[in-house]
Amino acid sequence: MAPPSYSDLFSIEGKTALVTGASSGIGSRFSVFLASQGASVVVAARRKDKLHDVVQEIEKAGGKAKAVELDVSANQESIKRSVDEAWAAFGKLDILVNNAGLGGGEGVLKDSQETFDALFNTNVRGVYFTTQAVARLMVDHDLSGRIVNTSSIAGAEMVMAGWAIYAASKAAVIQLTRAMAVELAPKGINVNSIAPGVFPSELTSSVVGTESAKLVQRAVPARRYGDTETDLMGALLLLVSEKASRYIVGVTIPVDGGHSLYTMDLANPTAIFDE
Ligand code: NDP
Repeated sequence: MAPPSYSDLFSIEGKTALVTGASSGIGSRFSVFLASQGASVVVAARRKDKLHDVVQEIEKAGGKAKAVELDVSANQESIKRSVDEAWAAFGKLDILVNNAGLGGGEGVLKDSQETFDALFNTNVRGVYFTTQAVARLMVDHDLSGRIVNTSSIAGAEMVMAGWAIYAASKAAVIQLTRAMAVELAPKGINVNSIAPGVFPSELTSSVVGTESAKLVQRAVPARRYGDTETDLMGALLLLVSEKASRYIVGVTIPVDGGHSLYTMDLANPTAIFDE
């Protein structure tokens, strides 16, 4: 048998994708990229004006997109209503990117229960019930689905002091990915996740660009932050492509310039503090 061609492996032409948290940052770039590869994209989040900007950007470039209002921290029924609307936009959903997420925290001595609930309802409950609503439709329509969750290296190897709740919520996304993958793979739906390092966005605005940012950059072997336009797209395309990811189930791919690998240079232990 001939080996598969690149275009056969990585084609998403004619697929339909729902991207949550598409109104800004990583999610808006994911949406523009998926549309540029031939997918019809439903962009979803709470801020409709920003979603319309993303739709316009996609349409201007010749792609297809529609905006749907979705609050992933709302209840199961409300998420289902938005998912039904997203399905109706192009008549199916082959791809779900659970990217909506909330950052923040003041540390264990100060955090309120409101902060805890907001982070977990958005980052964990939202991923679970959005997946449920989409996966039910995929199964009912016998689609070969691809689901990609945005976790974080902060949910695994890297720990950010002050953001303990966020870290726990992203760790939960990694384990949800594995558990949901085991349930859904027999039905032809592959669930995987991407764990980004530090990428400039609204979420990281308190870190990127400040004095502490210099230290973070030194802790990243690639010596820079991630580029939201480009650096996550290889992992995304791999995991959403029906053929390329056919046998990839329940994994989390770190895309972090090596940030989660760095510990210490034994020959020069203070290296990361030196200019
Ligand atoms: P942004 O703050 O720019 O984007 C967050 C997105 O999530 C927005 O589009 C926001 O839209 C949406 N969102 C937040 N709450 C809800 C909600 N309740 N319902 C629906 N949508 C919601 O940050 P990023 O682009 O950086 O974050 C995207 C994802 O990447 C998040 O899951 C984040 O945790 C993750 N991540 C980011 C990293 C980084 O360095 N930037 C590193 C690792 C992971 P709206 O307000 O319009 O609803």
